[in-house]
Amino acid sequence: MCVEKWMALYNQTKETVEQDAAGVTVRLATITCGCGWVRGITEMYQCLYCREWFCQFCAENHFGKTVKQYKADKAAGYDNAS
Ligand SMILES: [Zn+2]
Ligand SMILES: [Zn+2]
Repeated sequence: MCVEKWMALYNQTKETVEQDAAGVTVRLATITCGCGWVRGITEMYQCLYCREWFCQFCAENHFGKTVKQYKADKAAGYDNAS
């Protein structure tokens, strides 16, 4: 695993742990995407494989398909990830 990836995961884990310790509920917790965009955790997407959180734009890049395509594939039964 490259250092940048490790740092991104480390920082995101730190963010969630700190907010959890401060008593912030999951619905109000925020995560900073690798692109620097801070969003509510409920609006972020976590990769099943590398466990990193992404905003919608970065998630679409990372997963190689748009959320729209993903939902269409899932509805059609092509989702083998779960
Ligand atoms: Zn990933
Ligand atoms: Zn992003």
